[in-house]
Amino acid sequence: MTVDLLLKGGTIVTPAGMNESALAIDGEQIVAVGDTEQLPSAEQTIDVSGQLLMPGVVDPHVHIGDYISEDTYETATKAAALGGVTTIIDFAWQGHVGQDNPWEDDGTLAEGIRTKRDAADGEAIVDHTLHAGILREDEHVLDEIPDIVDSGISSFKIFTAYDWGLSNGFMRRVMETLAETGAVGLYHTEDQTICEALTTDMRAAGLSAATDYPDSRPDYAEAIAADAAARLAVETGSKYYGVHTSCQAAAEVLDRYQHEGQIRAETCTHYTALNDSVYADLGDLPRIAPPIRPKDDVEAIFEYLRRGTLSVVSTDHVAQSAQAKSDSEWWEGPYGANGLQVSLPVFHHQAVVERDFSYPFLVRTMATNPAATFGLEDKGTLEPGTDADIVVFDPSSREEIDAANNASVADHSIYQGMEVEGAVTKTFVRGTLVADDRTVTASPGHGEFIERDVPNWNE
Ligand SMILES: [Zn+2]
Repeated sequence: MTVDLLLKGGTIVTPAGMNESALAIDGEQIVAVGDTEQLPSAEQTIDVSGQLLMPGVVDPHVHIGDYISEDTYETATKAAALGGVTTIIDFAWQGHVGQDNPWEDDGTLAEGIRTKRDAADGEAIVDHTLHAGILREDEHVLDEIPDIVDSGISSFKIFTAYDWGLSNGFMRRVMETLAETGAVGLYHTEDQTICEALTTDMRAAGLSAATDYPDSRPDYAEAIAADAAARLAVETGSKYYGVHTSCQAAAEVLDRYQHEGQIRAETCTHYTALNDSVYADLGDLPRIAPPIRPKDDVEAIFEYLRRGTLSVVSTDHVAQSAQAKSDSEWWEGPYGANGLQVSLPVFHHQAVVERDFSYPFLVRTMATNPAATFGLEDKGTLEPGTDADIVVFDPSSREEIDAANNASVADHSIYQGMEVEGAVTKTFVRGTLVADDRTVTASPGHGEFIERDVPNWNE
């Protein structure tokens, strides 16, 4: 038997350990892992000596297009490919019916999914799937959920904040339906009334500087909303996934409920790499919600990652121009920061280089856990028989982050000038080289939409 490709000479990183092995790839799959001598011969052999072979990063929190982000599927997934990210999960919003239409009041989740599937069609370079976002307290949405789960979208995003946040009462009803189907609920938790009242008071007091912004969305607002939502998930027996956990106060709450129900949570790369001094340094550019927190919270986030309370690191990637960010006062938005292209090297630097976390930990938090949490069975692993989604990573290469290299349309970076150790040298998606030596090597359309079953969180 001759296979298509052999990657030899490198060190394989799995969720459980590291070893000097080669990987054999045939078609779109990994077919064997082991000593080079024991593997089949190959059409092509690439020597990756001195480098790490890891499962491609699975980023379950990425925003593309739809009035939130300026990226298209092509620009965002180019950034992903260059960043070693082989699967992303984007969002489809209830009633979002097209590029020229805002959200329709009576629109459905199914319409929002269609809009996003059309936008992605033929454009993506890496694999992708969607969370369905519930934006209104519309009874019809409860009937839609089981059909959407059957169609391969097994996770639903819910906000407690903004105009489209749900009340605890309606959220409980959604959770009951999620519990019946086994689907995952993703929760953006900030108490809207607290954030709103603080914003009103701060505006009246003339506190318009970028450095004032974090005080309008305090850690306790995040913790209070997380407490309510996680408790409801425990009471309804539904799966809870807390998005962008930013602070000790919220992580503490989730840690408590984790012993009672199906509670999982992520943090984002920026909450591990930056502290609130960025608002003095970069003004409005790091305006995200929840805000970037003080130093003590950064260390607390690492402690909760160590304990496993937080099991996933995502980007919450949003592309906007620096102009759009700095044109408006902090209370007007827009929110969001881009990070898809540099998330792996930045988190590698913070966790492995600076704090002695292991490479298997890096693989678990950025690939294995997000894949398992969202039912991506063939992703996040190097097991034979799964998709050949692989990142080749040079752990000792040093580079300075510069937004001039962005494939995303975002023309700035909240990590600008940061020196990080570790660089992505090659990215494979289902056996195809999609990025090589900082250049995208695949065409739009290589990325496929992945249908997901309901995940089993008891494994
Ligand atoms: Zn988000």
